[in-house]
Amino acid sequence: MKPLPRITDESKEYWNATKNEKLMLQKCTTCNNIQFYPRFFCIECHSQDLDWIESEGRGKVYTYTVIRRAPSKAFVEDVPYTLALIELKEGVRMMSTIVDDKIKIGDQVEVVFEEVDESLKLPKFKKHGDGSRASLTNRASGV
Ligand SMILES: [Zn+2]
Repeated sequence: MKPLPRITDESKEYWNATKNEKLMLQKCTTCNNIQFYPRFFCIECHSQDLDWIESEGRGKVYTYTVIRRAPSKAFVEDVPYTLALIELKEGVRMMSTIVDDKIKIGDQVEVVFEEVDESLKLPKFKKHGDGSRASLTNRASGV
């Protein structure tokens, strides 16, 4: 069994949204700062007036690393896999797994959701424009 994300009061809304294949970010209503991961306050102005906005789910690979040695037994079948820092179009960076074999820095990626069980879906990223576009991303971008 893989370690699952710890769902806290701050991140509850976020994980509820991923169940519906939505990637949500927090937006400060005081200074308009957008942030990830979820917190109780804005990291720019410390306001607690935060809204949720839906991310377009697209961005680019800021940096990445290929994991060749499983961090624990649960990941043995997954290695090698690519862990990347994704810079979303909204400007925030998010650590996630890339489902493609080969990527490079600057590659355009889009979110896909992997169902872990009924109560949890994990956002992962795949290369954008590889011919097998996810319908959920089309919907999110209004295409
Ligand atoms: Zn703020």
